[in-house]
Amino acid sequence: MSRFAFEVARHDRAAHRRRDPRPEGARVMVLGGEHVATAAEIPAIAWMSRDEAPDGEWVWLGEQGGRDHAAVVVDGRVPAELNPVSVRVLAPLLDPEDLSLAVHAVALARWLAATPFCPRCGTRTEVRQAGHARHCPGCAADHFPRTDPAVIMLITDAEDRALLGRSPAWPEGRFSTLAGFVEPGESLEDAVRREVAEEVGVTVGEVGYAGSQPWPFPASLMVGFFGRATMTEITVDTTEIAEALWVTRDELRAHGEAGTLLLPPSGVSISSWLVEAWLGDQITAAWF
Ligand SMILES: [Zn+2]
Repeated sequence: MSRFAFEVARHDRAAHRRRDPRPEGARVMVLGGEHVATAAEIPAIAWMSRDEAPDGEWVWLGEQGGRDHAAVVVDGRVPAELNPVSVRVLAPLLDPEDLSLAVHAVALARWLAATPFCPRCGTRTEVRQAGHARHCPGCAADHFPRTDPAVIMLITDAEDRALLGRSPAWPEGRFSTLAGFVEPGESLEDAVRREVAEEVGVTVGEVGYAGSQPWPFPASLMVGFFGRATMTEITVDTTEIAEALWVTRDELRAHGEAGTLLLPPSGVSISSWLVEAWLGDQITAAWF
């Protein structure tokens, strides 16, 4: 079972079948950007037949439950009559099978929409591999969807307190684990240590892998870690973090119940799962 949204794939990408993105009998998802067509008034994807789907770029998603699945990426926004809803909003509402296909489709839709031209020579590229590659007829370069790794980490100190931070964009009281993008030529572990040092001035020693979450809004892969601080004094870099604090498990529970500290919703982000893994308990709805 998955511990947070998008963690476990529930479809076979069947990459050997990327020659034909629109096989007969396929169930078809319609999307534009991160918005997908949904069934009216129910939080479910509106699967269509090949003939019902509007015009757009066809993408092969793969096989699931003995059925073929494809997506049509429309040019611009999904028409209002198809009830477009962001996959980010649908994440906690969809069944795991549809969510698995949706996260794959959104990642491709965002990439296809953002990269029509060759970054080497500027020629308009041709879509290949049923939406999973682009080929440049000008310079013969092949281009593939990019994924930008970001690290997200729950740091503890020698007393096993957790380090949480608040972004300047967030309201008072809303906290999360620290996170940041991996820089070119940097290991994931070094990115964890650098980001924590930059954001809150805390040095981190041991770093261990916890899990990962695709987050295609537009192209991130969140790579989760647990890390152990070698000091506790916090010096906040106020451009990236408004405030940071160390909390014990009892303090976090007391804050949660009093509503004085809010966390990301349980089951959606790897951030809340990292906190829950440390806490040994699920974050309840009152804390969101
Ligand atoms: Zn080119």
